[in-house]
Amino acid sequence: MSARALEIRNARKSYGQTRAVADVSLDLAPGRILCLLGPSGSGKTSLLRLVAGLERLDGGEIAVSGALVDDAGPRFATPEQRALGMVFQDYALWPHLTAADNVGLPLRERRVPNWRAAGAAALAAVGLDRLGARYPHELSGGQQQRVSLARALAAQPRLLLFDEPLSNLDAKLRDELRDMIAATVRDAGIAALYITHDQSEAFFLGDQVGVLHNGNLLQIDAPDRVYDHPATPFVAHFTGAAGPFPVEVTDDALVWGSARAPRPVGQAPGKAQLFLRPQWLTPMDEGPGTLAGRVRVCGYAGGGWQALVDLPGGTIHLRLDRRIAAGERVAFHVDWARCLVFRED
Ligand code: ADP
Ligand code: MG
Repeated sequence: MSARALEIRNARKSYGQTRAVADVSLDLAPGRILCLLGPSGSGKTSLLRLVAGLERLDGGEIAVSGALVDDAGPRFATPEQRALGMVFQDYALWPHLTAADNVGLPLRERRVPNWRAAGAAALAAVGLDRLGARYPHELSGGQQQRVSLARALAAQPRLLLFDEPLSNLDAKLRDELRDMIAATVRDAGIAALYITHDQSEAFFLGDQVGVLHNGNLLQIDAPDRVYDHPATPFVAHFTGAAGPFPVEVTDDALVWGSARAPRPVGQAPGKAQLFLRPQWLTPMDEGPGTLAGRVRVCGYAGGGWQALVDLPGGTIHLRLDRRIAAGERVAFHVDWARCLVFRED
């Protein structure tokens, strides 16, 4: 295997009857961030634990920095041998050690020269240089997570693993820490595998975003590719597109409620599902070709209004520049070229 930061080939892992990781293959280039996005139970943590060496593969191979660490057979490197940095949802700090020791002592154990200075530098990199003497219970959740980020970075690992590190934080802290993770990981130039159920987090942080469902990787691509061209209805739905709206593809048109559009390129006639994103709809006066809907609720949303609008076969949340009363009809121009149309199986 080549010197990728991480290479996974046909990874499989079951717990009893549960197939947690069905068949996953992926590559991660040095210095890049790969975010895996998936709902609860999709196999994210299981995959991360396989990479970390906390579980063994049932089938397939994993290599870190070109070294085979698990081949589902005799080859198995322990977590320590893999030299990875890990950041978990629950911080996983030692409660009886100060922040400085939480970061520094693992370095001492690994015989890092000048471990004290290296630990202090890592704490400074996450903005905690003044709080090194505090114990975890004397730190906020956000600060504790920054200590665990410092600990993960301090050993200069070849690969960083993140398992939903922001899930236990409130919205404002979540954004702050997300920005800090993006900045420090990119500064350090360390490759990272980052797991989350939050699409905006994945899009923001990832050079690449992968979508997991039932232990399978449905798509792996640049964030804007995943957003604009989801490979399956599940990816469209899970990345926040509205739908599915039932549509009919005829020989020469796509028909959705009152609206008709040219038949999408490559779509065979028949029933199909349409997904779309709010910004692909523009409110306008009702006329030929417009899509008619009805406002269900509308409320102020800072600088504009937000409405839940009934469209044929489903609903969508939209931003509006004026208040439209519940029950009123609205019409839209649809950016048909961007709409996501999937054949119904
Ligand atoms: P995620 O992190 O995406 O929520 P997990 O990897 O934790 O998903 O879980 C994937 C599936 O594997 C789930 O059905 C879960 O119940 C199951 N699972 C995970 N770990 C274990 C385990 N140690 N024993 C039994 N089942 C497990
Ligand atoms: Mg998990």
